[in-house]
Amino acid sequence: MQTQLPAEFLATPEGSEADRILRNCVHCGFCNATCPTYQLLGDELDGPRGRIYLMKQMFEDGVASGHTRLHLDRCLTCRNCETTCPSGVEYGHLIDIGREWVETHVPRSLPDRLRREGLRRVLLAPGLFGGLLKLGRGVRAFLPASLKRRVPEARPAMTRPVSTHSRRMLLLEGCVQPDIDPGINAAAVRVLDRLGIALTAAPNAGCCGALSQHLGAVEAAREAMRRNIDSWWPAIEAGVEAIVMTASGCGSQVKDYGYLLRDDPAYAHKAACVSGLTRDLAEVLAGENLAVLEPGPARRIAFHPPCSLQHGQKVRGVIEGLLTKLGHELLPVDEAHLCCGSAGTYSILQPEIAGQLRDRKLSKLQARGPELIATANIGCQTHLAAASGVPVVHWITLLEPQA
Ligand code: SF4
Ligand code: SF4
Repeated sequence: MQTQLPAEFLATPEGSEADRILRNCVHCGFCNATCPTYQLLGDELDGPRGRIYLMKQMFEDGVASGHTRLHLDRCLTCRNCETTCPSGVEYGHLIDIGREWVETHVPRSLPDRLRREGLRRVLLAPGLFGGLLKLGRGVRAFLPASLKRRVPEARPAMTRPVSTHSRRMLLLEGCVQPDIDPGINAAAVRVLDRLGIALTAAPNAGCCGALSQHLGAVEAAREAMRRNIDSWWPAIEAGVEAIVMTASGCGSQVKDYGYLLRDDPAYAHKAACVSGLTRDLAEVLAGENLAVLEPGPARRIAFHPPCSLQHGQKVRGVIEGLLTKLGHELLPVDEAHLCCGSAGTYSILQPEIAGQLRDRKLSKLQARGPELIATANIGCQTHLAAASGVPVVHWITLLEPQA
């Protein structure tokens, strides 16, 4: 694609990067075929090709409107279009630049700003989200059914062993996951302990930064990334084997730290090292001898691969292979490549589209009568569980005897 970005914008790191990415797009439109919002809304501007064109136009003309922002806001950042694109267009990186540009050039209304910033702060303030969730759970029994389903039930974490293994890996606890389902990280610690690996969290590590980044708060995202790198660095220097992610959304972000901080002279090298060491939990287990595990009884499972795992990290079929190897029955699921509508804060900010995508996803997941649905990201898990007829769990919990 020909571009004519203004020299001033081209001189910035974002401008030259946007230009490089735009030039790879040949406008073929193949990506529209797998875009969930294009499939649902049928509008060219709600598909990747249209959004790319909108961004090119706004960068070139230096103007954008609320109309431009609406179509960018409706994008799930699922990156299904990247998987489909034959030209290797890095749509995820382009829309990050586009969103930052829109946030600075097209002011949102006060209610919209308050809603987005309020959401970001509630989810990221230590203790606040957990306190509100506790409150919601306390009055859950008195809530109408539609609201009750949105408040996830409390799940026990059970114990974490204190391991003394010489093999050591770092765990990112995450921001909302420990409050919603503390059993996920606890199960990961126990499973790796049985495999002879000590999995521990570094003090001060917190949100991976994805939440702020996808809400256009780019500097807050960078601060989160630098804080995590500082927290992990002593363990990395001490020879830790990997940084393990139990939520694929976080994994996709941390694997991208090297790219996102490439222009930061103080952090570029460290960020690249962190990204190089980051592994989804499934990638770690795939390289281990699982014979020592005693998984629970065989279950009929429908697996939902989160977009952040299959399109963001390009990790495909690994969890399905592990569950099958351990005796579970994996049912075929149609449209497995499509987003469930969770997409970070998308399900809160775009509830109508997110609800339609969830209904469509659940109809495919439940089509062959599974006992339960397994997934690999807390956002998808919570979003699907709010309307599912069967339990929705993180796959790691199926590798333990009590599952
Ligand atoms: S992003 Fe890729 S698939 Fe989509 S129009 Fe551009 S070149 Fe074609
Ligand atoms: S990231 Fe997902 S929703 Fe956004 S344009 Fe690409 S396929 Fe469509």
